[in-house]
Amino acid sequence: MLAMRASRLFFRTLREDPADAEIASHRLMVRAGLIRKVTSGIYAYLPLGQRVVRKVADIVREEMDRAGAQEVGLPIVQPAEIWRQTGRWFEYGPEMWRLTDRHGREYALGPTHEEVVTTLVAGEVTSFRQLPVNLYQIQNKFRDEVRPRFGVMRARDFVMKDAYSFDVDEAGMAASYAAMRRAYTRVFHRVGLDFRPVESDSGAIGGKVSEEFMALADSGEASLVVCEACGYAANVERAEGVPTPQEDAGPEPEKPLEKIRTPGVRTIEELVRGHGVPIRHTAKILFYHASYLGEGGPGRRELVAALVRGDRQLNEVKLKNLLGALSVELAPEDEVRRRTGAPFGSAGPVGLAGVDRLVADHEVALGRNFAVGANEEDRHYLNANAGRDFRPTETADLRAVAAGDPCPRCRSPLAGRRGIEVGQIFQLGTRYSTQLGAYFTAEDGTRRPAWMGCYGIGVTRTAAAAIEQRHDAYGIVWPISIAPFEVAVVPVHVDDEAQRHAAEEIYRTLLAAGVEALVDDRPERPGVKFADADLVGFPVRVTVGERALAEGSVDVTDRATRETVRVPLPQAAERVVERVRQARRELALRADRAEAALEAQAAG
Ligand code: ATP
Ligand code: MG
Repeated sequence: MLAMRASRLFFRTLREDPADAEIASHRLMVRAGLIRKVTSGIYAYLPLGQRVVRKVADIVREEMDRAGAQEVGLPIVQPAEIWRQTGRWFEYGPEMWRLTDRHGREYALGPTHEEVVTTLVAGEVTSFRQLPVNLYQIQNKFRDEVRPRFGVMRARDFVMKDAYSFDVDEAGMAASYAAMRRAYTRVFHRVGLDFRPVESDSGAIGGKVSEEFMALADSGEASLVVCEACGYAANVERAEGVPTPQEDAGPEPEKPLEKIRTPGVRTIEELVRGHGVPIRHTAKILFYHASYLGEGGPGRRELVAALVRGDRQLNEVKLKNLLGALSVELAPEDEVRRRTGAPFGSAGPVGLAGVDRLVADHEVALGRNFAVGANEEDRHYLNANAGRDFRPTETADLRAVAAGDPCPRCRSPLAGRRGIEVGQIFQLGTRYSTQLGAYFTAEDGTRRPAWMGCYGIGVTRTAAAAIEQRHDAYGIVWPISIAPFEVAVVPVHVDDEAQRHAAEEIYRTLLAAGVEALVDDRPERPGVKFADADLVGFPVRVTVGERALAEGSVDVTDRATRETVRVPLPQAAERVVERVRQARRELALRADRAEAALEAQAAG
């Protein structure tokens, strides 16, 4: 649909911000009449909002098709059995919406589709000749988020594009992954985002290699570290810590263990301040409950003590991955006291009893002479050393990397950024294909599991992310490619015959040239119409007013810069068409250039 008359459009703008909106995109999507809340985390999309969603989806669809993926339609309602086969019926937890039919059979509302698509492929693919194949769909997904917020950014019902690739071997999987990575790069350039792919944790879905596409925005929920020197970028959940020495001069010799009186000391800060211990010679201990997956249900639980240097924070995702646990959460103080007998503020690794495991970050394992709690009220040890005074069951990279830390690739200092995760791509390996029987007969006659990848884009979240990046005091500033309409033609007074006529003329010429245009033919005050055009954020506004018209001209305003030029009426439509085409070309060109750069990189 190219055309629209505002007098017929089902929309209403609001002058007031919705009370529950914490971020700009949420505020503006409601105020501009794009969405309305139905209930917590669940939204209705009004015509203007739905157009944006469709335009994002169309771009995604074009790029998926271009990359050779094939669109399918998979059911939203999925039987519990296939989720039980992968163990995720339990593993997915309370985020999964579950329902029961009249016969008492259980189902999930799809939060994602690995189980369904792998089962489908298992039934259809028998030979290597049918591979590779990449299947995608664009559909509503359901997740009962703990904290739905930020409007459609973290909703319980949202639109996702999900794709799943199946290959004969690991190299094939890597090639499919690379093709999706290129397609994602094109998509996010085409929708006008300032974004960056970052290394990421693959979470509960499995697999080893994964990247998230992050729209850079201060309001983003993800924290990232990026290296401006070498290009390394990672989600902090994943970023590798480089152990840094305690002293520039190199490691001290081990000193004798010494117990000291530390009345009232419960924190690292108090230990440093009150007893003059350099912070790099302190280690803090944290106690976690780790829960594991059992046979299709909850398994064992462990009490785990984890050590990181006093100047570091522990990264819970790394801890969870090290343990292979389903979840980790801080253990309550009374339980720690009961199991270990140690007071919380003076617990430490030397002579620690009652825990199932003691894990240590590399810096604690490699460092020397740490001040630690002595497991007695008001006592600490000085000069505790791993190996000599305590023995971790495992040592690993456990610390949370922060801005200023060295880059794991080139050692330059990392910068901190915030991002909105708009997409994620994974190399899954053969987990799902073996669990669900997606085997094929290889060229040499052997039966092998397919190598899989999966690839998601948050379609509705992408629209919100674009607003986070592009808005001003007046409203949304859409990139041309996903604006609900590219041009708004505004006759200042519709009851003025000359204005109405000139506006109609321009409107029709724009439509004929394939420009998506809306004419604001409402009998509203000019101020209201201008404010609405700015709020909704049409990239170009053509204003047909009395004074300009008297000199045979109209005003053309650029939404982003708010600059207006006066253009003679006979050239107006043509000039606007050219402007729109130019803006479209810029985004397309960015996508082409980025893709060419990726190809050049891959070629070496
Ligand atoms: P998040 O970490 O933000 O919860 P996720 O990693 O669980 O997201 P994926 O399973 O990777 O999400 O889903 C693919 C994409 O779907 C995400 O990159 C994101 O853009 C989008 N998405 C995920 N959850 C939501 C949600 N609750 N509301 C809107 N979009 C979402
Ligand atoms: Mg994700």
